[in-house]
Amino acid sequence: MEAGTDTETPVIEFRGIGLTYPGPPPVAALRPCDLTVKRGDFVAVVGPSGSGKSTFLNIAGLLDAPTSGTYLLDGIDTGKLRDADRTALRGLRIGFVFQSFHLLPQRTALENVILALVYDGTPRRERADRARRALEQVGLGHRVDSLPTRLSGGERQRVAIARALVTRPSLLLCDEPTGNLDTVNADSVLALLTQLHKDGMTVLVITHDPLVAARAENMVTIRDGVLSLSESAPHEVLG
Ligand code: ADP
Repeated sequence: MEAGTDTETPVIEFRGIGLTYPGPPPVAALRPCDLTVKRGDFVAVVGPSGSGKSTFLNIAGLLDAPTSGTYLLDGIDTGKLRDADRTALRGLRIGFVFQSFHLLPQRTALENVILALVYDGTPRRERADRARRALEQVGLGHRVDSLPTRLSGGERQRVAIARALVTRPSLLLCDEPTGNLDTVNADSVLALLTQLHKDGMTVLVITHDPLVAARAENMVTIRDGVLSLSESAPHEVLG
């Protein structure tokens, strides 16, 4: 088994992680916090606008370095890595899903998913098969040759999820994945995330949507940069 990916090692471990933007004036966007996300967890991160959700996402996704604390991803101390190694770790271990899909409009669903494998060392001859299987996993085996413009919003987001999954990440990190979708499409994406969680994927969703938060088994609230594990129902903490 690959080092750091056994079931005992948490996927995310924050120890005193915080970020203060230097300013002036300095802004404590995320106060030092501890957080453990275990393998197979489904965690929602909620909080009002400006509370620090993006700051949290950028740190968890290795896009920004914290200004305090230690972040272990799959047991690897990310603060000790050089920039190039951190970028490589991000590509290997984290699958990103964004609100606005970020698909290339002139490329088919299959080609969009294949592109995720171009830089991760997957041999060329294996890419199409793996991409096809990822699209089947999200229920789009019949739409592999469609352009994104011919797909519904929910289907586009499912292509984006296939692209995130095809590299076999440890963590699916979703930023408002239903933010651009109507209720029907949001439901289909939410059902897929729930299914992936049931199949063992670790899913972390940053969201404003109480329905998304309600599906997660753990909820983290951020308010004024202070992160806390929530006990209360999602609609009570969204404010
Ligand atoms: P959210 O995603 O919940 O809307 P953010 O993480 O974007 O919140 O922002 C948290 C706080 O940090 C806000 O007060 C915001 O104004 C501030 N902030 C975000 N980015 C920067 C930056 N680059 N420099 C200074 N302050 C920032």
